[in-house]
Amino acid sequence: MTRTITILGATGSVGASTIDLIRRERDKWRVMALTANCQAAELAELAKELNAEVAVVADESCLPALRSHLSGSQTLAAGGAGALNEAASRPADITIAAIVGCAGLAPTMAAIEQGKTIALANKEALVSAGEVMTAAVSKYGTTLLPVDSEHNAIFQCLAGNSYDHVRSITLTASGGPFRDWTLEQLAAATPAQAVKHPNWDMGAKISVDSATMFNKGLELIEAHHLFPVGLDKLRIVVHPQSVIHSMVEYRDGSTLAQLGPSDMRVPIASCLAWPSRMDTPCAPLDLAALGELTFRAPDEDRFPATRLCRLAAEAGGAAPAVLNAGNEIAVAAFLAGHLPFTRISVMVEELLGRYAPAAPVALDDVIAIDAEARGRARQLLELV
Ligand code: NDP
Repeated sequence: MTRTITILGATGSVGASTIDLIRRERDKWRVMALTANCQAAELAELAKELNAEVAVVADESCLPALRSHLSGSQTLAAGGAGALNEAASRPADITIAAIVGCAGLAPTMAAIEQGKTIALANKEALVSAGEVMTAAVSKYGTTLLPVDSEHNAIFQCLAGNSYDHVRSITLTASGGPFRDWTLEQLAAATPAQAVKHPNWDMGAKISVDSATMFNKGLELIEAHHLFPVGLDKLRIVVHPQSVIHSMVEYRDGSTLAQLGPSDMRVPIASCLAWPSRMDTPCAPLDLAALGELTFRAPDEDRFPATRLCRLAAEAGGAAPAVLNAGNEIAVAAFLAGHLPFTRISVMVEELLGRYAPAAPVALDDVIAIDAEARGRARQLLELV
């Protein structure tokens, strides 16, 4: 049976992994919409290859380029925020939400409102919108499947069990490329060093988040919304080999873990095939070759991000959206060479201390808080 699929963020790292899996089962999928921000040539190539109904660039200034690359093809070209939301709301059996940052929030919400299945990679959207997004998922009867490897692991470990029996959920963290660096070394870390993740091949933003440990903090907030067992039951452990992707401990003392290669095609395949399974080209785990799996507690003196994220989750309301916006601006500034690595979390903490708006109740509130927080974060940058 053919299923329809939309990929928001098709030109990114998660988009590429998804498309790799689709190519291997081409006859099973009909592609509705593919989107990008401005990589028009890449998007057009994918749209032509996969015979997509519509291709959208979020940045409208890139639409002429997309049109020209798509000329003569069957695919409709569109551009701008409205077109992105319209494409996301076209009925698709499954939507892969893989735009980076809060920019993915509105189209992801548009897809959620169709009441089908969303495979969510775009953690910043859930972190920022929190209850607004989970309420929409309930209201529209949408199935939300986690793509993030940790949450996908937890989702698998929870299958068939009740939250009532969960004693704790542990998110594993590789610790990123700087896990053994001193504070002095961290202060001099460069963008090129930060995006070189030891285990995973990912987009620039999430790679920096892994280096600061904001990624794990954002994942803690994400887990808080996806698996409502209470923040006090959510833990983080550093596991440098990234073989165990996360674990759930039950009241009887059993701990279930999900293991797999550090390849996003595994959790993406789990979402594409859910509740069944599909083949992937990933090499099987060779535990004897791995030799050992090690664990250690996170060091919040060197990496304060997880502490800040837990505080924002505890505060609730607008705090996670403010934290996320501040982090997005700080990461962009770091990547552009305008902010030292160790100032990322300092700036986010300052922003959280200065801007505490009322809790959002609707999508527009989240978008307004995000925009205001970004403006204030930019002002803080000018003071650095
Ligand atoms: P990439 O940077 O590789 O790709 C991002 C995608 O989003 C691209 O298609 C990009 O288009 C598009 N995009 C960027 N900015 C905008 C915008 N303003 N409006 C609309 N589209 C935009 O990111 P990743 O694939 O690494 O990550 C995507 C999401 O998945 C993130 O939230 C990340 O945290 C999460 N994730 C990623 C993992 C990974 O392994 N990469 C693992 C787990 C979660 P263009 O190419 O035109 O710029």
